[in-house]
Amino acid sequence: MDLKGIKLFVMDMDGTIHIGGELFEWTLPFLGYLKENGIKYVFLTNNSSKSAKDYQNMLEGMGIENPVVFTSGEATARYVKRNFPNKSVCIFGTENLIYVFKDFDIKIDKENPNLLVLGYDTTATYEKIRKFALHLRKGLPYIATHPDINCPSKEGLIPDAGSFIALFEKSTGRTPDFIVGKPNPQMLYEIAQAYSIDISEIAMVGDRLYTDIKMAIDAGALPILTLSGETNIEDVPEKLRERIIIVENIGEITKKLLDS
Ligand SMILES: [Mg+2]
Repeated sequence: MDLKGIKLFVMDMDGTIHIGGELFEWTLPFLGYLKENGIKYVFLTNNSSKSAKDYQNMLEGMGIENPVVFTSGEATARYVKRNFPNKSVCIFGTENLIYVFKDFDIKIDKENPNLLVLGYDTTATYEKIRKFALHLRKGLPYIATHPDINCPSKEGLIPDAGSFIALFEKSTGRTPDFIVGKPNPQMLYEIAQAYSIDISEIAMVGDRLYTDIKMAIDAGALPILTLSGETNIEDVPEKLRERIIIVENIGEITKKLLDS
């Protein structure tokens, strides 16, 4: 549990750097400190329906300059590119997700694909569901970007990728062969690859034990739990408290870095 030697901070967003779109007062000073000291940071999201650019615009709107955003869609494209070279993919997902795959020169084929990728499809139609289910029945490799059952929205929780995974399981009996996004450590492995650094040089900062912190521990990154979001200190099992860094908010990390 040593902050010394950390070269990259991977930051969860909601509950960590902002709450409901309102940036915490300590976020910009903390990011400024990292920048001054040559420590990189990247923002992480499981949501594969939007593009990194959408999130960059959102973060810029909050006052963060030149933010870098890594989505589960990008992590999945990187994973597919490496593990299924020259294979064509049918994507159950938004146009944004398809663009991410095209950016990595991955061939898209809706009719006769070699493998199947499921993302959070906010543009799903019955025709798309029908086609994807029929492909699943052929036994093709099946990868999902992330497992979240619901996505928070202003009006309440709405079905996310995990709900579509459940729909396809009900119909075809199949579950994804592999899921890339949080809490799966693959998400962090892909970031380590993208930045050409060792996983031990990454700190994962987030407010959820069962996604952010679980992923950090399983991947071998430095887990930092912030209590500024949905987790209270009472929620943290006694044993776990010794294994992770816990801060009230990310502003406290600056002091810990100075002391390290
Ligand atoms: Mg969060």
